Amino acid sequence: MALRVRGVVLPDREVRTFWIDGDVLRTDPVAGAETVVDGGWLLPGLVDTHTHPGTDSLEVPFDDGLLRKDLLDHREAGVLLVRTPGTAARMPAWVDDDAELPRVRSAGRWLATPGRFFPGFGRDVPLDELVTAAVEEARASGGWCKVIGDWRWDDPSVPLEVLAATVEAVHAVGGKVAVHCQTAEGSRNAVLAGVDSLEHGMHLHPDLLDRMAAQGTALVPTLSVFAASAKGRYASEPTPTRSWWIAGWEAAPGVARAAHEAGVTVLAGTDSHPCGTVAGEVAWLHRAGLPAEAALAAASWGARSWLGLPGLIDGAPADLIAYDTDPLLDPRALPHPSRIILRGRVVR
Ligand SMILES: [Zn+2]
Repeated sequence: MALRVRGVVLPDREVRTFWIDGDVLRTDPVAGAETVVDGGWLLPGLVDTHTHPGTDSLEVPFDDGLLRKDLLDHREAGVLLVRTPGTAARMPAWVDDDAELPRVRSAGRWLATPGRFFPGFGRDVPLDELVTAAVEEARASGGWCKVIGDWRWDDPSVPLEVLAATVEAVHAVGGKVAVHCQTAEGSRNAVLAGVDSLEHGMHLHPDLLDRMAAQGTALVPTLSVFAASAKGRYASEPTPTRSWWIAGWEAAPGVARAAHEAGVTVLAGTDSHPCGTVAGEVAWLHRAGLPAEAALAAASWGARSWLGLPGLIDGAPADLIAYDTDPLLDPRALPHPSRIILRGRVVR
């Protein structure tokens, strides 16, 4: 049976009525529709742009049961679209076929060159095979690949010329490149190589933000996962690693705000377990200085558009969430939508 929803659509703040025909949103009435939302606020589903469902520890690199549970945890928090920038195994095909689960944009396996990342956890490749492997992962995932651009603070990052060649080759086959970077050199190389997204972007120099904005490189600052480990870092024994980490962490919120102000697309990614906590990242982005609407866009309509999906318009996939209170004025409500509709089906 067709469904009908009516409410204030964010961010436009216009009252609109939609009909859901199968798994598609319609603006023209569909006969005999059952009203499932009448009033309140409507969003096109939340988005976690950096999450690793199915992987919770180094001991169990990838587990299908955990993958499904993690995706359901996302869904229960209103997250109806995720991007997985790296997994220990390629995303199994059943994920796309299971109508219960949020939509997944995979970046295939983490691509790790020698000395970077946890050995054997991702796909280990010699530096001179990175270009080929990145094209393979992007093709296999139908879009993204993920390169570990740097690792320890005192080790060199993937050389700029290798990263630039990787970006060129992946773009040539229509793919996109996400790069893990947490050192100044790694973040700089990622920007200069023209990657599509900096994951973490710790120690990113603000001088690079204008270039990021101009070439369309997004920043996924993952502030909440850093915040979660900050206490332990401050309490730890003084070491060069501790100093490096704390300097990066203390600069990170300011860099996220400056990035937004420079016109860089800043997106919400949690990078942590349990899944379903993207509202916490929205809170951190707002605390960093992004306006409330921009912080929410980073986890909803903005992220969705960045991943190639439309918002609440005629013909869009029928993925939406509804709130009884305005989630911009009542952020505590954000992880608790009153109604969740995924692929045209009422989940809650
Ligand atoms: Zn990650």
